[in-house]
Amino acid sequence: MSGDAKSEAARRRTFAVISHPDAGKSTLTEALALHAQAITSAGAVHGKSGRRGVASDWMEMEKARGISVTSAVMQFEHQGVVLNLLDTPGHADFSEDTYRVLAAVDCAVMLIDAAKGLEEQTRKLFDVCRHRGVPVITFINKWDRPGREALELLDEIEREFRLKPTPVTWPVGMAGHLRGMVDVRDQDQMLRYTRAPGGAKEAVEETVSAERAAAEEGADWVQATEELDLLRETGGVHDPEEFLAGKTTPVFFGAAVSNIGVRLLLDAVVDMAPAPAPRELEGGGERPVDAPFSGLVFKVQANMDRSHRDRIAFVRVCSGVFERGMTVKQAATGRPFATKYAHSVFGQDRTSVETAYPGDVVGLVNAAALRVGDTLYTERRAVFPPMPTFAPEHFAVVRPVDIGRSKQFRRGIAQLDEEGVVQVLVSDRRGDQAPVLAAVGPMQFDVVKHRMENEFTAPVRLDPLAYSTARATDLEGADALNRSRLVHGEAMLRVRDSAWLGLFPSRWHVSSFEREFPDLPLETLIAAH
Ligand code: GDP
Repeated sequence: MSGDAKSEAARRRTFAVISHPDAGKSTLTEALALHAQAITSAGAVHGKSGRRGVASDWMEMEKARGISVTSAVMQFEHQGVVLNLLDTPGHADFSEDTYRVLAAVDCAVMLIDAAKGLEEQTRKLFDVCRHRGVPVITFINKWDRPGREALELLDEIEREFRLKPTPVTWPVGMAGHLRGMVDVRDQDQMLRYTRAPGGAKEAVEETVSAERAAAEEGADWVQATEELDLLRETGGVHDPEEFLAGKTTPVFFGAAVSNIGVRLLLDAVVDMAPAPAPRELEGGGERPVDAPFSGLVFKVQANMDRSHRDRIAFVRVCSGVFERGMTVKQAATGRPFATKYAHSVFGQDRTSVETAYPGDVVGLVNAAALRVGDTLYTERRAVFPPMPTFAPEHFAVVRPVDIGRSKQFRRGIAQLDEEGVVQVLVSDRRGDQAPVLAAVGPMQFDVVKHRMENEFTAPVRLDPLAYSTARATDLEGADALNRSRLVHGEAMLRVRDSAWLGLFPSRWHVSSFEREFPDLPLETLIAAH
């Protein structure tokens, strides 16, 4: 018997962890899974090579680098709530995928290294969360080793992200000298952490009264209480409405590696993160969670399993109950799609999924017809707004090595464009014989090379272009770009959605162009049409 969509949706939280590489995302994911009860079996935890867990390494190239190109999904249960944790690849060479995952979550945990503060990819990912209205919970990690001052880190978040931090836990002892943690909502006690005997990784947790903490922790306790007073005066108190509106972020401190502060974070995801809500529809209105089934394809992955040469579409259930075997319709074409092969996908581990509810993710196998951004539904047609893509930063002209294989070349490039592996741009100057590929991370180009050669038997040559910044603009903007002597930019026509992209050699050129044409819109996020 399957539950009903509304009550099942209410007990689901679908989230992602956003962070800069090395901030501790894999470690935190493992720690979260330790506390929660993983619903799926082994392999649920995504890890790097040589570590516990299963890396979703679907290509030799990926194995060699020991990183994960694909996004996996992990499902576990905590306090009767089903948590769907969608993995965002955090490697420096990340791609569009990372951003798209954020279209499928209701909340994000922003993981910050206490010694480093906000880093480049944290900023980029935060921008996407803000753009999409995804509320953000902050976890300041690695408090077990020397780092920056807690107040200074909060200040940085507020100043740079215009996001008011509302600490929920507060550390006793500076980074590197962690004694314990105070729950800001209950300051009469402290959770004390001590190193586990026998060198175990997890710290031992003990609750002590405020009096005892004052007597035993001395100056550390005094400093923590003074800081807490200061916070109270400046009004940094968690307010659910402000948090959901993206104005504030609840802040937690901890050390994922010793499992410190992780349970409190998990509780927060259950208590504070929003459950799947009615989803906005293209052209106005919204789809309630208890409407007939609808889902959003947020990622398409070809050839995950080399022996099967298949193609998996990852679908986030938005409304209704998904049941394996049901026939769904693809909104873009109105064509039916049979879901006989529906899986939960964890790296290369697959198990058939029978039923899924709003917030859950299912992987549809043999999904040759499905595209990123597609809406699926059973009855009462629904179309969700298209996914915005992030402005690419790497550009290269692509040509077939062997002119005789230009048919395979064109087919392959079109396929990779549809999957969103790269964006394919056509320049008026270059024509479609030598399209320009645009990527967020340079590794997308390696994927193109690899797949063009192995899958489409059309090896390619890539010649990098000296542009590093793109801005979406309109026809008028494209025209201005072509005329601007200052920029020497190229206005590019994006084939599939007719959006214009202006390419610039540097951010400096963007600024000077903006000064020259102050009325023209230049956007960092490119809305797909
Ligand atoms: P990712 O790249 O964000 O997935 O980061 P990892 O989870 O691989 O962590 C990067 C490094 O930081 C590893 O060496 C971890 O052991 C270490 N690390 C993660 N969390 C903590 C922590 O809380 N304290 C300390 N001292 N090290 C940590």
